[in-house]
Amino acid sequence: MNVERVRRGIGSDNTCRICGHDLEELLHVLRVCPMAKDIWNKLIPIEKQVRFYFRSFHEWMTENLQTMLSFGSNGIDWSCLFGMISWCIWKNHNSFVFRISLGARRKSSRSLIVGYLGCSVLERELWGILDGLDMSLDQDFKYILIQTDSCEAFNAIQEAFVGDSKSTLIRIIHQLLSKVLHWSIQHPSR
Ligand SMILES: [Zn+2]
Repeated sequence: MNVERVRRGIGSDNTCRICGHDLEELLHVLRVCPMAKDIWNKLIPIEKQVRFYFRSFHEWMTENLQTMLSFGSNGIDWSCLFGMISWCIWKNHNSFVFRISLGARRKSSRSLIVGYLGCSVLERELWGILDGLDMSLDQDFKYILIQTDSCEAFNAIQEAFVGDSKSTLIRIIHQLLSKVLHWSIQHPSR
């Protein structure tokens, strides 16, 4: 985000590069910027939009990530969907803004959003794996070796090979893995 870049002294412009809004901060990127709003408006019923758009950032995140509500007729878990969409919005915003200077910066964006989402240790590890896979696929790597310190993440990814996983994250990881020629996963004992 430009606000953060200015704060760290690595930029002088804190306007949103997409819409020109004065302060490009997390709330703006995830909820206010037209790129984000277009997505939310398609998902949130009109009668619920006032509540959705006028919460403080913290309330908004907490309420949506902790709700037990499901979405649509398929009963998709809304908190999970909300987290994934927020992550995608964040990622798209960054890839637009930082297309030239990607690399290491992208990893720090991921840590920031995962931190805000308040995920469990396993989820954090899975988000990390997902992000690493995403970057590897961007670079057209055909052979991928995943190394994880998390025994749980290792098992979850391995087990999903045999049976269908209930975790959306795991399913997405497997979808991405199906695009490479060969992949394997290691859990190095420490
Ligand atoms: Zn904007």
